[in-house]
Amino acid sequence: MPAFLPRLFRLTGSRLLDVVYPPACFACETALQAAPSGECPDAWLCRTCQEGLEWIKAPLCSMCGEPFDGAEAAPFRCWNCDGRRLAFDFARAACRSAGPVRDMIHAFKYRRDLAQRAPLAGLLQRALKDPRLAGLNPEEWRLVPVPLHPLRQFWRGYNQSLELCRLLGRATGLTTVRALRRVRLTRTQAGLDRVRRLENLRGIFEPARRWPGQPAPVQGKNVLLIDDVLTTGATAHECARVLKKQAGAEKVVVITAARG
Ligand SMILES: [Zn+2]
Ligand SMILES: [Zn+2]
Repeated sequence: MPAFLPRLFRLTGSRLLDVVYPPACFACETALQAAPSGECPDAWLCRTCQEGLEWIKAPLCSMCGEPFDGAEAAPFRCWNCDGRRLAFDFARAACRSAGPVRDMIHAFKYRRDLAQRAPLAGLLQRALKDPRLAGLNPEEWRLVPVPLHPLRQFWRGYNQSLELCRLLGRATGLTTVRALRRVRLTRTQAGLDRVRRLENLRGIFEPARRWPGQPAPVQGKNVLLIDDVLTTGATAHECARVLKKQAGAEKVVVITAARG
């Protein structure tokens, strides 16, 4: 059976085809007892993969969301964020980018497995349960995807961040606006240290083009910047900087399914 067929059927959500091609775990493709439904990740993953999830729980750095052991009551910044100027207000991820979640993100980004957007959007919903984001008002908050360069988007077929925004928007009632554009194609960030990453990213984002007289879509609004994974935070910082300085955003909170 061609490998893309189960993914295609998973994407269409066809119950009839589940009989022919039984539902499979999104991370390891082991057959599941029942078709995935409901909230992530319990329904989407086999038992082994569920147990392999590393949830991010408090206490965590009030800036980058890095979790720490122990019972820290007062808000704190980790040694990595202390003294570092970051343009976003804080970052929050649902779990570690390890094991099954790393496999899912990899399939979503590099194997065109678009069906992965559903469980990953479920993880984003979990990240949104952070108490600092209680009672998000759809009038005040916008979802903004991290833009891809048009060439990379053409090669990949979609922008994974925008796909996640769309599902998250449906689940939360928040509006997605493509407030940024990527003006330069950069070499991949993997393998670069933090300083080199920041240099690699400088000036690559700009506010999205607008018609004359059209207001900036995030002017005076708060932004949830949505991405699949947060590693050093360099990309998120650069996006937040442009959103605040050039697009008029108030707060920028970074929400990712996972963190490195
Ligand atoms: Zn599995
Ligand atoms: Zn930190």
